[in-house]
Amino acid sequence: MADMAVPVEEMLHMNGGDGETSYANNSSIAKKVMMRVKPILEETINKMFCFNLPTCMKVADLGCSSGPNTLLAISNIVDIVNETSLRLKVEPPTFQFFLNDLFGNDFNAIFKSIPEFYHTRKPDTTCFINATPGTFYGILFPSNSIHFFHSSFSLHWLSQVPDLLSAEAKIADVDKGNIYVTSISPPSCAKQFKEDFTLFLRSRSQELVPGGGMLLTFIGRYDSSQNISPPGLFRIILNDMVLENLIEEADLVHFNMPIYFARADEVRGIIKEEGSFLVERLECIKTSWDGSSLDEAGCESFKDENERGEFAAKILRAVYEPLLKAHFGAGIMDELFFRFQKKTVQLLPKLVYPTLVISLTKIA
Ligand code: SAH
Repeated sequence: MADMAVPVEEMLHMNGGDGETSYANNSSIAKKVMMRVKPILEETINKMFCFNLPTCMKVADLGCSSGPNTLLAISNIVDIVNETSLRLKVEPPTFQFFLNDLFGNDFNAIFKSIPEFYHTRKPDTTCFINATPGTFYGILFPSNSIHFFHSSFSLHWLSQVPDLLSAEAKIADVDKGNIYVTSISPPSCAKQFKEDFTLFLRSRSQELVPGGGMLLTFIGRYDSSQNISPPGLFRIILNDMVLENLIEEADLVHFNMPIYFARADEVRGIIKEEGSFLVERLECIKTSWDGSSLDEAGCESFKDENERGEFAAKILRAVYEPLLKAHFGAGIMDELFFRFQKKTVQLLPKLVYPTLVISLTKIA
């Protein structure tokens, strides 16, 4: 396979449908984080609309995927805005929601769940749901047309696979068994993230109405920690599989993931440099790979360590399998994820990542 930049829209999607390994069935980490972020969503919306509400409120969810979280995001926003309208003693607005994801997303699965959503929300809310397929790294909507953007667990995906290292350097690394395994990403990923995130901000500022805002939640990284990231753990396992001749070395050398975990200060710097948004809030929530919160009283004790590890591995399979399958073929997926699960169980206490929660308003 050639080592060149591959646009993500041609290859990225979560596991579709509603089967055992689907994203729909394995999106509970994102759901837990979404519930923890709800008070910040509430604060952001209340601040933006403290004096009046539009008669038709246009909201877009960017990187909506397909599954229970897609309509949960909408539902949270409707509840919050309806409370705001009660407080302001005005009629609740009509809502127009735009669900955005890449072209390969399972939009049909979302469409099928919409009647149930309409049914449970009516008659108190008038809500129109539209789909807007395409990349959020670019313009998706007319200028000055959207009041609020929401994006959860999507902006760590890059627009393309950066060329990490020369093929020679990677072969040398495979030989030494020390291919890049930590959350510390090479400079080409940081550069790609900066380009992508800048384009994202520029596009959204053009599309937002004056005074509009957004709430962004995505995976980041800590400054100095050696935390292992899921792509890092896949690399360790794939490297073992090369050494056992289960995978061609050349296949591993040419494999990169279009993903980057940025530090909070890095993100703040890019927002400042781009210049269209005011940071209302930027904070980090510590999340374990199985979604349990480490900021609250320790880990949730709903399962033992083994179960938690297995659970985390299943969730990550729904996210990473399509990319790994496209590159290495379906044949090794069960073996790869069996090993991934074993390692996840062993390493679970160390498997933590910061989730960045950022509330922004457009500078007039
Ligand atoms: N918001 C959902 C889904 C998160 S999964 C939740 O919180 O559960 C991340 C989603 O982002 C995937 O569905 C992926 O296809 C989408 N995504 C990644 N890059 C994208 C891009 N450039 N444009 C639009 N969607 C993108």
